[in-house]
Amino acid sequence: MLADRDRLHIAIQKSGRLSDLSRGLLKDAGLRIQEGKNALTARVENFAADLMFVRDDDIPTFVADGACEFGIVGGNVLDEFTLGAGGGGFETVAKLGFGRCSLRIAAPEATPYQGPRSLAGARIATSYPNIVRRFLADAGVEATVVTMNGAVELAPRLQIAGFICDLVSTGATLEANGLRAVETVLDSEAVLIRTTRPIAPAQADLGERLLSRIEGVLATRDSKYIMMNAPGEALKRITAILPGAEAPTIVPLHGRPGHFAVHAVCQESVFWETLQKLKDAGASAILVVPIEKMML
Ligand code: ATP
Ligand code: ZN
Repeated sequence: MLADRDRLHIAIQKSGRLSDLSRGLLKDAGLRIQEGKNALTARVENFAADLMFVRDDDIPTFVADGACEFGIVGGNVLDEFTLGAGGGGFETVAKLGFGRCSLRIAAPEATPYQGPRSLAGARIATSYPNIVRRFLADAGVEATVVTMNGAVELAPRLQIAGFICDLVSTGATLEANGLRAVETVLDSEAVLIRTTRPIAPAQADLGERLLSRIEGVLATRDSKYIMMNAPGEALKRITAILPGAEAPTIVPLHGRPGHFAVHAVCQESVFWETLQKLKDAGASAILVVPIEKMML
């Protein structure tokens, strides 16, 4: 068996909004995770790594202390931790494109709001006291921050606070509680963080391999391989339309002088509108296929 300093340790959320998506990302990166019910750790069968399942709030600490070399956590949790702990100990190495949400200030429907000034002297209930204090300081407004660990949206009804600051994705929870968002404090998504503590060379090597696989997965998630035929005079127009494609491959079609096959990797979504534009520009037999793996 390999010594621990020869393995990577990756902290992900045990159960919650990010847990399945975090596992999904690692699986897409080729990591076969040994599943055990309610286990606190899991071995990766085909990569020298162990997963640690923890509460999301503990992930920055694990990585900053070097107990785990990598972690997947919401930008909101990271920001709150950094402001509280004074930062240090980790770096963000990738934005992961999932777990998108916003930290927003909300108030009962009837509460008047004309910008941050309306918060002066108010009480704001939140699980993100450091982020809210920074927002207030930046806005030059004095208000009382009331820290709650959950059920923040009940605070106005219980008259604990006139405003709340909480995570919102669709706004349905706010609406169900008779609240409306008045201010966005932070836009967040899940991020991959890496410890900045010194690690063993073997771990650094594994880390580079993991990161390049994850970057590959992120790149393929939106990417498509696109192929079409086109007459020579249309090539210029066609390459200008291809979304996010650098240097397409252009090869002559056998038996059709003046006609070419165009192949390209598009790093942005390819919509029906794009296909129509390509057709209008002279392309035919357009094929769009998903990309399974990519290493940049
Ligand atoms: P834990 O038990 O790990 O402490 P939690 O209850 O604090 O879990 P979740 O509700 O599972 O956390 O949310 C985890 C993360 O998912 C949030 O920190 C945030 O980054 C992200 N997220 C995305 N959309 C939302 C949303 N609508 N509400 C809350 N969090 C969201
Ligand atoms: Zn949490």
